Amino acid sequence: MVPEPGTVTTDAASGFTYTASPTRIVFGNGALAQLPHEVDRLGGRRVLLIASDRHRAVAQAILGGLAVASFSGAAMHTPVEVTEQAARLARETDVDTVVAVGGGSAVGLAKALAAREGYDQVVVPTTYAGSEVTPVLGETRNGVKTTRSGPEILPETVLYDVSLTIDLPTDLTLVSSINALAHAVEALYAPDSDPATGAFAVEAVGRIGRGLRAVRTDARSVGARTDLLVGAWLAGTCLAGASMGLHHKLCHVLGGTFALPHAQTHAVVLPHAMRYNAVAAPEAMARVAAALGVDDAPSGVLDLVVGGGGPTDLARLGFTIEQIPQAVELALAQQYPNPAALTAEGITALLHAAVGEP
Ligand code: NAD
Repeated sequence: MVPEPGTVTTDAASGFTYTASPTRIVFGNGALAQLPHEVDRLGGRRVLLIASDRHRAVAQAILGGLAVASFSGAAMHTPVEVTEQAARLARETDVDTVVAVGGGSAVGLAKALAAREGYDQVVVPTTYAGSEVTPVLGETRNGVKTTRSGPEILPETVLYDVSLTIDLPTDLTLVSSINALAHAVEALYAPDSDPATGAFAVEAVGRIGRGLRAVRTDARSVGARTDLLVGAWLAGTCLAGASMGLHHKLCHVLGGTFALPHAQTHAVVLPHAMRYNAVAAPEAMARVAAALGVDDAPSGVLDLVVGGGGPTDLARLGFTIEQIPQAVELALAQQYPNPAALTAEGITALLHAAVGEP
């Protein structure tokens, strides 16, 4: 049920704490032009640019002489061997600032370098992953993913340039947006959420829903891309401000242990995780449904995935029924908050449904 205006929602009724992020956000279509100014504001004189070939030339041209080195080897889940390679380059070229232009992988590498060497960071996200506004770093060593958190990991400045997302391929646009949507959805039922995070989450869900429907007909629509990027920022802020539940835990296990692709896994799992939690979190589901303009939140999210031609089964991503028992064991190995009780039977059934095999 959607709360009546003036109703005290559960997050406020149970008390809350809220810490505003110190990260400076610069948003605009063409905002990349402000990159030298943003580096200068931080006192940066020597920049290591982390960017794939797709974005390196444009960022280098804008940075001019500030860019003294560039690195294009960022990889998913921030492998420490890659970080060590980039750290060597940063030391050899005596940089003081790291600029990352790219998706969550490029941003993750910038965070890893800042955590080790204390560099200032200006990050320019080109997907909707949301890592740029969280103080969280996930790293992999010998195939094992560990996560840590701390203020030194958080970028000083995030520069969102809508124009860099216009050409994000439609399949990536869909799965990355659902990745963002998941941050907002889980924040709405997190026990440590608060009214500001809840408001961010509802706004994020509305913008992501609207943006995803609009890019189906015009993938290069600046309005739709603006909605998606604003939604991704707000949703990333939710990820930073509230504990994530079953959905994120499952995706972490599926990505970390079974090497499933990050955003695609989120797109498959989210409707199932929401269905699992629907009865236990009616208010959160009502707020998601209202923001999306649908009657039922899990079905509404599934419709967004299907309508955008996204993946709906884990089998397609390489996960098999035989792997379910290990995934369930790992998902239950640690305590984490979730509205519905976490049981082996329940998670097994969820994964069977998500695998999509007969
Ligand atoms: P990614 O950065 O690996 O990018 C996916 C693909 O999209 C890459 O091939 C990349 O080159 C391409 N790409 C990026 N921007 C593009 C553009 N504008 N146009 C065309 N292609 C483009 O993947 P991702 O989904 O952005 O991020 C996933 C990573 O981020 C994972 O390692 C995940 O663990 C991490 N992550 C961390 C947090 C956190 O808070 N620590 C949050 C979310 C994601």
